[in-house]
Amino acid sequence: MEIDAKVIEDIVNEVIKSSNASKAAPSGNLGIFDTMDAAVDAADVAYKQYLHCSFDDRRKYVQAIRDTALDEAHLKEMSENTVTETGMGEVSYKIAKNTLAATQTPGVEDLYTSALNGDDGLTTIEYSPFGVVGSITPTTNPTETIINNSIGMLAAGDTVVFSPHPKAKNVTIKLVKWINEALEKAGAPKNLVCTVSEPSIENTQAMLENDKIRLLVATGGPAIVNKVLSSGKKAIGAGAGNPPVVVDETANIEQAAKDIIDGCSFDNNLPCTSEKEVIAVDSIADYLMFNMKKSGGYELKDPDQINKLVELTTVKGKSPNKDFVGKSAKYILEKLGINVGDEIKVIFMETEFEHPFVQVEMLMPILPVVRVEDCERAMELAVIAEHGNRHTAMMHSKNIDRLLKFHKMIQTTIFVKNGPSYAGIGFGGEGHATFTIAGPTGEGLTSAKSFSRIRRCVLCGVGKELL
Ligand code: NAD
Repeated sequence: MEIDAKVIEDIVNEVIKSSNASKAAPSGNLGIFDTMDAAVDAADVAYKQYLHCSFDDRRKYVQAIRDTALDEAHLKEMSENTVTETGMGEVSYKIAKNTLAATQTPGVEDLYTSALNGDDGLTTIEYSPFGVVGSITPTTNPTETIINNSIGMLAAGDTVVFSPHPKAKNVTIKLVKWINEALEKAGAPKNLVCTVSEPSIENTQAMLENDKIRLLVATGGPAIVNKVLSSGKKAIGAGAGNPPVVVDETANIEQAAKDIIDGCSFDNNLPCTSEKEVIAVDSIADYLMFNMKKSGGYELKDPDQINKLVELTTVKGKSPNKDFVGKSAKYILEKLGINVGDEIKVIFMETEFEHPFVQVEMLMPILPVVRVEDCERAMELAVIAEHGNRHTAMMHSKNIDRLLKFHKMIQTTIFVKNGPSYAGIGFGGEGHATFTIAGPTGEGLTSAKSFSRIRRCVLCGVGKELL
């Protein structure tokens, strides 16, 4: 029996229509959903649509994210609101960090296909998306991380669901809405970037357990990094640091002092990359501290005051007191009964190596200086202070052999030589920007490539035919 072509066409159209209907996205408000499962479902539907978009489409959508983040009113509002909501950091630095994320995060150009050709044909090795990515973001760089991750993940062809820190709920929701508005205007499928209306640990747990999440990315402290790494899913962990700075007697001491103060005070020391302790060779230690004072450092000398500062800013010397994380040096000194002007950016003091300010990741502009007999000892102690995080370290020296040796000893993901820490994330240093530095899992400064799977595509026989 012959079937009429029109009948076949009608049947095919009906099947396509019903399959599209069953894939309809769960309704949400510009990417915001009441439950984590609804957000993941929406991002999964979006992913299946996004798979059919071209690389040019991806470029357009990435540009839309950059543009909305760089919109002057958005940039100002999210930077101000982040400081108000989280109680951490400073507006001018937030603007600088958000701008860096929007302009210096690589897009689609980060992905390139390599090819092998020969007698047996042509093989290409391609970067492909994972699918729906679950990204857990910190309070310290909330909007920066969302801009940076959204660009990298969408460039890779993934869709993303964010689980932000509850203390950054409002800024996250607003930014995700702006991103969705911009994507919609650019003609993108709905819900490429999603989050929940009530961020919580329970929602993060639901994300970890959701089968539709194909890749987890955690930017935060040890608890969440360990959690994603034991989830049974592919996970990228961007964890805590405690970056040491070594200064030896060959360094340009005036410049080193300025770099240390500038890096340590950047957004009130919130970046995981910022200088957290200085280990200086005895012969230059006094001159270094003299110059740190000239560059905006305030030296605390009285042991009672230093002890009082420990009581104030730590929980029993074991962890930072959250009330002081990301606060300015001026604010912290005021609580200690010392009034200073805005020119003071860092509080520093000479301490022994075992001091809590050396050992604890404080995330505030308090900088201990440890004096040692020589550079060899400085490098050894810096490795211990870094606690094996393999995150970030700095060294000020003109001795190439020592720079090379320290680099090998400490094995950090970022190693800045003769500059401030922020040069390592693309401010005044070569290289792309990221706010997800994956030391524990080894992706390094993440970008679209890190959120991609590598696939081989083999075309047989072409080589022989061409000969
Ligand atoms: P945090 O670990 O308290 O929170 C980070 C995220 O993890 C938040 O979304 C939080 O809700 C979630 N979280 C934390 N513990 C959890 C748990 N037990 N179960 C489920 N979810 C949990 O960190 P923070 O204070 O927001 O950020 C500061 C920390 O993050 C510092 O240690 C800093 O070094 C690190 N950090 C690392 C990078 C990097 O790229 N490596 C970047 C920024 C911050």
